[in-house]
Amino acid sequence: MSHLSTAASSSADINARRIAAMPRGVGVGFPLIYAERARNAELWDVDGRRYIDFGSGIAVLNTGHSHPRIVDAMRAQMDRFVHTAYQVVPYESAVYLAERLNQLAPGGHAKKTVFFTTGAEAVENAVKIARAATGRPGVISLTGAFHGRTFMGMALTGKVAPYKIGFGPFPGNTFHVPAPIELHGVTVDDSLRALSHLFKSDIAPEQVAAIILEPVQGEGGFYVMPDAFMRALREICDRHGILLIADEIQTGFGRTGKMFAMEHYDVLPDLMTMAKSLAGGAPLSAVCGRAEIMDAPAAGGLGGTYAANALSVASAHAVLDVLEDEQLCERAQVLGGRLEARLESLRATVPQISDVRGLGAMVAVEFSKTDGTPDPEFTKQVQERARDAGLLLLTCGVHANVVRFLFPLTIQDEVLEEGLDILAGALKA
Ligand code: PMP
Repeated sequence: MSHLSTAASSSADINARRIAAMPRGVGVGFPLIYAERARNAELWDVDGRRYIDFGSGIAVLNTGHSHPRIVDAMRAQMDRFVHTAYQVVPYESAVYLAERLNQLAPGGHAKKTVFFTTGAEAVENAVKIARAATGRPGVISLTGAFHGRTFMGMALTGKVAPYKIGFGPFPGNTFHVPAPIELHGVTVDDSLRALSHLFKSDIAPEQVAAIILEPVQGEGGFYVMPDAFMRALREICDRHGILLIADEIQTGFGRTGKMFAMEHYDVLPDLMTMAKSLAGGAPLSAVCGRAEIMDAPAAGGLGGTYAANALSVASAHAVLDVLEDEQLCERAQVLGGRLEARLESLRATVPQISDVRGLGAMVAVEFSKTDGTPDPEFTKQVQERARDAGLLLLTCGVHANVVRFLFPLTIQDEVLEEGLDILAGALKA
């Protein structure tokens, strides 16, 4: 048996081996689809079935599966070297990537960028940097937030099942404020009132290092944070010397129609976390922020064996080139508009659709029962019917009643249309 899948192995066979060899804790979304190859927005499994991929490896492939320019960049880097450990023997490509991201991140102020491997690590390090810069312990996040599976990531994540069950205790000095989601009865004023209660009941604002939030909640359900909320948070942070961290791990790199979702707001974050589509499938994450804040941790305080991995950095340069050359931010607006129009047109015949929302191509559809309560069963059915018809959809939401759309921004028009037709069939079946 080779290290790759053998021609004789079916998805069902491999799945039986997976269950015996690997723990159940990694919940696999499509356990009977074992990937064989993938290109742009299409994926083929070991059984020879073709799927249209509207999930992009959870928001990682804004530039599609195996974009030829990205593959070439990684290959060329592989021929030079794969790994030196950046913190032992550095290389120019990482310095240049930091320069590019400093330039691309919103705001004309001086910025610095540090690289890590996963999104959760970027979140951990943003908190480390914020604590080092402010000398304060507290960190505030929102209900429904997702910030990763490490201990601080779990502590900041605002959803217990399945992310936190059995894993406590979590780091202290973390607090949640209800996310302002009007659709579910929480207004901006409600959220801000809860924050001011928190400052009275749990932690003084002078003890808070940072408030962290996703400008559009990802795993939580694709809820766009209102302008008024972002503006108020900025004002509160400025008043109390608190840092504002934008977690752009899922929203970044063109998904929302801008390079970063924070560009939709008229306030700037102090720190930003990035990962996922930054490197087109290669593991790479980053924290980018105000230069003076970024320099707070002492030398040696930040790093990681694979941080700024050379293959990932090469891939990220090609991703940024492709985003620019193929005008994928503009394309995200077009694709998102097309998808929202299609979903809106389906509302008349699919009574379970209770909301269609989005920013750029970060679009979601939410399903509810006739009494207005969430309908996770229907959501699951839609996902399964779509899968059986050759379309991979991801769900999300605190109540698992949302389908989120994350197709590559490079998707061909005809593949998108084919996927939308399958979606329409799955909704109406
Ligand atoms: N933050 C956000 C907003 C995310 O969407 C994710 C991943 N879904 C993470 C953090 C964690 O990233 P990773 O899985 O790479 O650790």
